[in-house]
Amino acid sequence: MTDTAATAIVIVAAGRGSRAGGGEPKQWRRIAGRSVLARAVAAFAQFPRIVVVLHPDDMLRGVAEFGGRVTLVAGGESRTGSVRNALESLAGGDIARVLIHDGARPFVSPAVIARVAAALDHADAAAPALAVTDALWTGAAGRVTGVAERAGLWRAQTPQGFRLDAILAAYRAHPGPAADDVEIARAAGLDVAIVEGEEENIKITWPGDFARAERMLGKAMDIRTGNGFDVHAFTAGDHVTLCGVRLPHEKALLGHSDADVAMHALTDAIYGALAEGDIGRHFPPSDPQWKGAASEIFLAHAAGLARQRGYALSNADVTIICERPKIGPHAIDMARELARITGSGADRISVKATTSERLGFTGREEGIAALATVTLVRA
Ligand code: MG
Repeated sequence: MTDTAATAIVIVAAGRGSRAGGGEPKQWRRIAGRSVLARAVAAFAQFPRIVVVLHPDDMLRGVAEFGGRVTLVAGGESRTGSVRNALESLAGGDIARVLIHDGARPFVSPAVIARVAAALDHADAAAPALAVTDALWTGAAGRVTGVAERAGLWRAQTPQGFRLDAILAAYRAHPGPAADDVEIARAAGLDVAIVEGEEENIKITWPGDFARAERMLGKAMDIRTGNGFDVHAFTAGDHVTLCGVRLPHEKALLGHSDADVAMHALTDAIYGALAEGDIGRHFPPSDPQWKGAASEIFLAHAAGLARQRGYALSNADVTIICERPKIGPHAIDMARELARITGSGADRISVKATTSERLGFTGREEGIAALATVTLVRA
C-alpha cells in the first residue's frame, strides 16, 4: 500500500506549450469541458499533498482553477528549474517520496500511478515506459537513411517516482537542462526501475492530440439533461427572492422555504439529470427544519451530489415567468449567484425572463413560475 500522506505529487505545468497551437498554453486548453491540467491533477486526487508548478504569469489562474486544493509554486526558466523549485518547497517536511508528473498527461491511470509507487519500495526511482514496437529509421531530407535497432529502447512516460531526499540532491547537483527527471536521477547514480506504462497515458503535444483526447473521452462520456419547473403563489409581503437575489416588491412568494421559485426549478433540473427525484425527496416539506430555509442549501446539495458522481455542470438555462418585478436589470447578478452556489463559471449559467402577455395566473400576477434546463457531463 502506498503511504499517500508521505508521498507528494509534483505536477509540472509551467511551459508555454507552443507546439500544440490553439493560442493558449496546452495545459489550460479544455478537453470535453475540463482543462488538461485539471484532469492531470484529478488523477492524483487520492494524494493529499499536490504541488502544481505554474508559469509565474499563470499563478492567479491557478488559484481560480484549484483554490486551496493544491499548493502552487512558480516555475523557473526551464523545466529543470521548475521541478527544482517544487522539490525545494517540499524539503524538510514529512514527505519521503515524490511522484513527478507532466501536466500535459491528463489520462494517467490509477494502475500506472500504483505501479510507480509500489516500485519505490525496492528502487531509488521508478518510471513508467512502453517498449518501442515500431521499426525505427534514421532519415534526412525526406529519405530513409538507415534502420536503427529498437531492442532495448523504451518510450518514457510520467509520473516518475523518487525518494525525495535522493532526487532533491540530484537536482541540486545538476543545474543544467535535462529531458526528464530520470535523466537527472541517473546522472546522480540512482537506480531507476522501469514499470509498465499505458498507451492511453499520452502527452498532449501537437494540435491533433486534442482531437485524439476528445475521442478517447468520447467513448466514456456521459451527458445528461434535466429539466425543472416550479410555481409559487404571491402572498402579502415586501420582497421576493429569485436566484438568491432579494428584490423589493409589493408582494412576497408563499412557500415552506424562502420560496425562491427559480432556484427550485434549477435544483430540480439537477436532481432530474441525476435521476434523483426532486427537492421534496431530499428536503421533505414535512420536516420543520427547512421552514424558511435559504434555497441555497437545496441547490448546493444538488450540485454537490452531481460533483460526487463525477459530473460537471456544463450549462444551465433558467427562465422566470412573471409580469413583475422586472428581472432584466438583475439577471446578471442572479446568474453570478447561481454560479457561485453551484461552483460553475458564470459563463455557463443563463438567467432570463419573460411575461405571459397578461394571460393566465402569471399574467394576473397571482404568482411566479420558473423553468430550468441543465446539462451535466461526466468525462
Ligand atoms: Mg418550490
